[in-house]
Amino acid sequence: MIGNRAYPLNTKPTQKGAVLYWMDRDMRINHNWALIHAQEIATAQNQPLIIAYNLVSNFLNGSARQWIFKIKALQEIEEACGKKNIPFYCIHDTTGENSPQLLIEFIRTHKIGTVVTDFSPLRIQRNWKKNVAEAIECPLIEVDAHNIVPARIVSEKQEYGAYTIRSKLYKLLPNYLDSFPDIKTQSTTHTPPAIDWSALLSHADIPKDTTEVTWAQPGSRHAESILEDFIRTRLARYATERNDPLAEAQSDLSPYLHYGMIGAQHIALSIMEATETPIEKLIDKHKNKASVEENATLSLSDNAGAFLEELIVRKELADNFCLYNDNYDTTLGFPAWAQKSHAVHRKDAREYIYAREEFEKGLTHDPLWNACQQEMVTTGKMHGYMRMYWAKKILEWTATPEDALATAIYLNDKYELDGRDPNGYAGIAWSIGGVHDRAWFTRPIFGQIRYMARSGCDKKFDTNAYIKKYLAPSLF
Ligand SMILES: Cc1cc2nc3c(=O)[nH]c(=O)nc-3n(C[C@H](O)[C@H](O)[C@H](O)COP(=O)(O)OP(=O)(O)OC[C@H]3O[C@@H](n4cnc5c(N)ncnc54)[C@H](O)[C@@H]3O)c2cc1C
Repeated sequence: MIGNRAYPLNTKPTQKGAVLYWMDRDMRINHNWALIHAQEIATAQNQPLIIAYNLVSNFLNGSARQWIFKIKALQEIEEACGKKNIPFYCIHDTTGENSPQLLIEFIRTHKIGTVVTDFSPLRIQRNWKKNVAEAIECPLIEVDAHNIVPARIVSEKQEYGAYTIRSKLYKLLPNYLDSFPDIKTQSTTHTPPAIDWSALLSHADIPKDTTEVTWAQPGSRHAESILEDFIRTRLARYATERNDPLAEAQSDLSPYLHYGMIGAQHIALSIMEATETPIEKLIDKHKNKASVEENATLSLSDNAGAFLEELIVRKELADNFCLYNDNYDTTLGFPAWAQKSHAVHRKDAREYIYAREEFEKGLTHDPLWNACQQEMVTTGKMHGYMRMYWAKKILEWTATPEDALATAIYLNDKYELDGRDPNGYAGIAWSIGGVHDRAWFTRPIFGQIRYMARSGCDKKFDTNAYIKKYLAPSLF
């Protein structure tokens, strides 16, 4: 049931005409509440359903790696739509990021009666939706197809941290973990114009300075097989080994979650089924997190509880941060104690200061940092534990926190396949600005921001093996 997942973005009256699902953040046909709602409305009004993706060339400075991943997944969506007789359009907007003018024209020329779209807390997508809601003559309805508990429902304000959002989520989760109805095949349809995928793939405006990744193939089908493989081979050691960058214990689902090629709710339901454990028991497992992590003999459901903490609590916390803090990508978004602490320490002597280009090329004095950077540049996915070390060292080796934040966001958004995501803005703001963290004891440069030492990594895992894995021998 769609329940209260739908959120009207204007009060325009329904028009007579087709129902459009404006696919944006959630690029999938199955398990997608926004598409389900669009089809419900189309059926109730006896109108056809159509889907359009508004493809913006210069979206948040992405590069070829992310572009190719996205275009190939859109091809899969076109194919899936064909099987359901749902016309699929890809509107290529090269005019700029801010106003989806071509989409607005599309809505007018196709005489659309209702538009349904999915939810993103990022400023640019919220602005698009605001502009479209004002410009069109029909309703624009947003459905949060990304989060299990819709971000606007779990909280109406910015949460302080995992400890404040967790109890709200736990209370609401059982109401939202219902199974998904199938998308029905439409009886009649028209054929939309063919999409020139090869022209899109080689589009000239896209910066070509990143390589296509090979370990992650785009699309929902591949997302599904990565999920199955994770449940079968890695879930059982997730809680104890996920922080070891050599253990390969993480799910690797973040690129797919980022593009909505797979949904968090479907993942959570699959984990519940695989572990034969209801959600109440799984989240209960996580109530005493410390004891779960220290315990060497964990059950499958203990591991599942630890995984759902990341997939649900941490991920929804990141969406909450971006939704309610307009400065999620500047130092003004840091908590007051962190801004004050940075002000006190901004002139502290730095032993090393690197230019952005030196960071980008992995030319610091620290082979471990250079290896993290290289992991990201070559694979498009830095290990989660190393992302914290990587961002904190950028703070330590940059002239100001403002420069550090801008450099970390620039590199993250350019190279990470899962970049340009609320999780990225929240993770970087946690590392550099204490967001969702607490004040620690004071030390140079960091002030009260939590510090991470190279020696801590050396104790935790085989840093030399990690360096060897990602750096050419000449670089260490
Ligand atoms: C500096 C920094 C930058 C980051 N940049 C990004 C980014 O650009 N995109 C991104 O998706 N994540 C980012 N993260 C969060 C986290 O590191 C990644 O989500 C995770 O490593 C992705 O790998 P996985 O899917 O194998 O994770 P798993 O451990 O298998 O977790 C499953 C899912 O849970 C969610 N998750 C896990 N850890 C976190 C977290 N700390 N915060 C929020 N959600 C989480 C993700 O959706 C992830 O895919 C960043 C963290 C830091 C500290």
